[in-house]
Amino acid sequence: MARIAFIGLGNMGLPMAVNLIKAGHQVEGVDLNPASIDKLKAEGGASVEFAHVAAARADVVITMLPAGKQVREVYLGGNGIVAAAQPGKLLIDCSTIDVDTARAVAAEAEKKGLLMLDAPVSGGVGGATAGTLTFMVGGSAQAYQRAESILQKMGKTIVHAGGPGNGQAAKICNNMILGISMIAVSEAFVMAEKLGLDHQKLFDISSKSSGQCWAMTTYCPVPGPVPTSPANRDYQPGFTAAMMLKDLRLAQDAAKAAGANAELGARAERLYSAYADSGEGGRDFSGIIRFIRG
Ligand code: NAD
Repeated sequence: MARIAFIGLGNMGLPMAVNLIKAGHQVEGVDLNPASIDKLKAEGGASVEFAHVAAARADVVITMLPAGKQVREVYLGGNGIVAAAQPGKLLIDCSTIDVDTARAVAAEAEKKGLLMLDAPVSGGVGGATAGTLTFMVGGSAQAYQRAESILQKMGKTIVHAGGPGNGQAAKICNNMILGISMIAVSEAFVMAEKLGLDHQKLFDISSKSSGQCWAMTTYCPVPGPVPTSPANRDYQPGFTAAMMLKDLRLAQDAAKAAGANAELGARAERLYSAYADSGEGGRDFSGIIRFIRG
């Protein structure tokens, strides 16, 4: 069993770390928030004050941090993980961040003789708790092989998407589809209301027709047709509008840098930005239907 340093024990990181403990790994957690550390300790983990101290003695370092800024700081800043970890060890960043930062950190790790993967996830807090996350992984085949058995303890679907940064590329492409399709489904339901077409009738037809998509059948933005969707609990998250906005911004930055045409992605970003500015950033992203309804 591996000695794992787990840095970033928030909504996602804590349940992921707990699944590693349950699988028999020795987990040492680091977080700025003492309450998160206490929760990890209650589940059988250990606490370490600084990331570089945990990284220096770990076989594997996993990070689950808010954004690229924190990832750069924790890996490459003063007392960073890359300087502290022993050559040959494995680093896995599961945060959702920009492709450029993921590639820059991986390049520095490689110079030091470390194996590094970007491995962002899909599946939310529910998937993190149940150990059913989807991992989109970028990095060398050697690093991927070393990581696979560990990722399997936290996820169900694990896909090696290519070299460094490709995990992040897959994540933002996927979430751009999701942001756009949630808006499309919401516009359709609001239009149906105005045309006198019942929500359930539209669902019964579209969920079995060419309009079928995840935003319709799993995460339906109106209450009723899918009882487990956030629409049935006043749009409590779930996945917040602020997080969707973060991912749509990352997608736009990547599209601009790569010269890709992502016009609907840009429109979706603007709409989610206006929705978050209306004070609903903490609401589930499917609540955008209320903003569209006006
Ligand atoms: P979160 O804010 O709950 O957790 C982040 C944790 O990192 C916090 O506990 C914070 O104290 C800690 N932290 C920040 N800077 C640190 C530092 N320098 N050293 C140590 N700890 C530090 O966020 P989350 O919801 O767990 O999301 C984490 C990542 O996963 C994000 O990149 C997010 O986009 C991505 N993600 C989240 C979801 C979701 O549904 N929440 C789904 C998929 C992906």
